[in-house]
Amino acid sequence: MCCISCKIPVCVCVCVCLARLGWGSTPASSGPERRVHRLLSFQRYLHSSRLLRGLPQQIPLHILDEDYTGQARCMLEKVGTWNFDIFLFDRLTNGNSLITLTSHLLNQYGLVELFQLDMVKLWRFLVMVQEDYHSGNPYHNAVHAADVTQAMYCYLQEPMLAKSLTSYDILLGLLAAATHDLDHPGVNQPFLIKTDHYLAKLYRNTSVLENHHWKSAVGLLRETGLFSHLPAEDSLNLERELGSLILATDISRQNDYLSRFRTHLDQENLCLSNASHRHFILQMALKCADICNPCRPWELSKQWSEKVTAEFFQQGDIEKKHKLEVSPLCDRETNSVGNIQIGFMTYVAEPLFAEWARFSDTRLSQTMLGHMGLNKAIAAHASRLQLHSTQRHSLRVLPVSL
Ligand SMILES: [Zn+2]
Repeated sequence: MCCISCKIPVCVCVCVCLARLGWGSTPASSGPERRVHRLLSFQRYLHSSRLLRGLPQQIPLHILDEDYTGQARCMLEKVGTWNFDIFLFDRLTNGNSLITLTSHLLNQYGLVELFQLDMVKLWRFLVMVQEDYHSGNPYHNAVHAADVTQAMYCYLQEPMLAKSLTSYDILLGLLAAATHDLDHPGVNQPFLIKTDHYLAKLYRNTSVLENHHWKSAVGLLRETGLFSHLPAEDSLNLERELGSLILATDISRQNDYLSRFRTHLDQENLCLSNASHRHFILQMALKCADICNPCRPWELSKQWSEKVTAEFFQQGDIEKKHKLEVSPLCDRETNSVGNIQIGFMTYVAEPLFAEWARFSDTRLSQTMLGHMGLNKAIAAHASRLQLHSTQRHSLRVLPVSL
């Protein structure tokens, strides 16, 4: 694969393009060519230099069924509970939450047997998926993917879905959740567009990141041959539907999905024996799983808000450094964790989860809305306190300033 603008291999191109921008300088760097930071598939380029890519150095193969620590195994027995602490699970699995959780769920549903998946290929696929998330991203890393996969599992267990989804739907839903942010660079689409990144050109400024996540997932499926035993048409269909799920997570298309969902609910015409309607519900479930942080208990929700804000501010710092216009929400001088969260809950999460609760009026939906209400009240209270303390500080410094 080559960069379409400079016709050089992508992995090298990322270095060169970033070097041209002078991104990611390290203290030891001297000229712009040396000031290179890994981004996107450059990470994969580094990994690919390993002789046995996808075969972990530290994780024994038999962890799949026997070798969890006792506590991690205990946690997996309650994997369907909404207060599941993915941060703790990640620590207990030595940073392997995504591999461990996904392989557990695939086994629990009997999907490995049903689809005759080769265990070695599956393991290699999951290891590569986890590797290709950027552990340096404060938010868009493998723990977020594991969290989304766990949330997706909770939704798949909801009565409306559990009684209608096929094993194929479940396989697709879990794979989409695990791969939906694969190789995320830790910056958003507007950033890629304004810096003329090759991915923005490749995907014509539309769902740039989501297209990249999807294509990266397809690349790993093909590299490991996980579905190579299926007829070609079936595996192509699976890849296409995986893309349709991942593309639905593009937040800029939220209103399209939401109004379609509302119309279905108003007209009461969702029929889950219809494959296209089931697929639509999987898209909505994945969207909910992706942005469910404000619906978790406060202790978990708080950690996620801090992480996502850290990633926004990191982007803002790069933009300032390179004299680019600072993206909305990315300026640490004018935004706070609380304000960003309140805005996100009000305009993005609440409307989505309100419709989800209409579709699936269960204890889980009410719990999620309850947590979100509480979290919003806590964030608003903290913001007010911060504002008062800032005002008091301004009053104190006023005479000096004058
Ligand atoms: Zn995500």
